[in-house]
Amino acid sequence: MRLFEYEAKEVFRRYGIPVPESALIYAPEEAEGAAGKLGYPCVLKAQVLSGGRGKAGLVKVVSNPENTAPVAAGIFDSPAATVDALLVEQAVEPEGEMYLSITVDPLSARALVMASASGGVEIETLAAENPEKILRESFDISSGLLEYQARNIAYSLHLQGGAAKEMVKILMSLYGIFRDLDAELVEINPLFSLPEGTFVAGDAKLILDDNAAGRREGFPLRREYFESEIEYRAAKEGIPYLQFDGDISLMCAGAGLTTTVFDLVHYEGGTVANYLEFGGPNYTRATEAMELCLANPSKVILAVTFGTIARADVMARGLVEALDRLKPDRPIVTCIRGTNEEEAVKILSAAGLQPFFDTEEAVRKAVALAKGGEQ
Ligand code: GDP
Ligand code: MN
Repeated sequence: MRLFEYEAKEVFRRYGIPVPESALIYAPEEAEGAAGKLGYPCVLKAQVLSGGRGKAGLVKVVSNPENTAPVAAGIFDSPAATVDALLVEQAVEPEGEMYLSITVDPLSARALVMASASGGVEIETLAAENPEKILRESFDISSGLLEYQARNIAYSLHLQGGAAKEMVKILMSLYGIFRDLDAELVEINPLFSLPEGTFVAGDAKLILDDNAAGRREGFPLRREYFESEIEYRAAKEGIPYLQFDGDISLMCAGAGLTTTVFDLVHYEGGTVANYLEFGGPNYTRATEAMELCLANPSKVILAVTFGTIARADVMARGLVEALDRLKPDRPIVTCIRGTNEEEAVKILSAAGLQPFFDTEEAVRKAVALAKGGEQ
């Protein structure tokens, strides 16, 4: 789940990362009063979860009381997003715009700091065209980010003296947030650099691991933090789920197998509507899993599992129970393998399903059905 900028900035403030003075408003009429207190010029920023607000016209500078309310009204009424709140912030006159983030690097199983002296709204273009301009420094998650590593990053950004020290402090604070809140990403873009060798976070992005909600203080799972109702429900159910916009709903067991099936669907020319795992601790929860898939406008549900402790017969029985309860309006393709798979086949066949025993065959069947082929 993703926090709003104003919440992420409150976290930054708590951890000693400088942020501009600001006020949160819920209607255009409040803008002038808030800006007047902060002093002009001010920046009005839509509090929405989507990125790229600058380019979408959802971040605007106002320099006098006359145009403040109309500009605020323009952002509230923007067709680009549903805007419920604006952050009114003292504008910063920066010398430069930098980029800083800490995220998880799945390939190396390490945490990764990314930093660039040229941040801002064009960071994606920079990453694509001049990747060498983005510094990458990974570190071991069990020892955490060490100060000498933060210093190396600061020097690689060509900072010296007070500015380098400031940067080290910000990096260590950023890491503290990353660790304490179980973040998947903490990002400052832009990080404004000021002539006197100090920095101010112009933006704040904080994505938290849904699975850590139970042990995190604050920020419980709330609908506003999710882009869609289904993603929110899945997070509450504790069912790993990712939204896509294709045809086939995956309802598989295990991250590795689900990812493999995802790739196979594409290899066979199909598209995926959602990634969903109902294995592991969720293997008895076929009904909850299928409900999430059915909430999608997908054409087919593809269930592929291989369970040892999560027994195939238990999963098959769960699937049949889900069919009885939910009466799905679309075909279900199954390939349920593992412990007691013979029993699983019997259960699925008795319920009128045609169980596959080969993953590729099951995937081909699902792709054919999604394309309107034979049933
Ligand atoms: P995003 O586009 O959703 O990432 O929103 P940002 O908060 O990053 O704002 C977009 C852009 O607006 C930034 O990259 C800055 O270039 C600009 N901007 C935002 N706040 C300020 C400010 O206080 N001063 C100046 N000069 N530019 C700002
Ligand atoms: Mn930004």
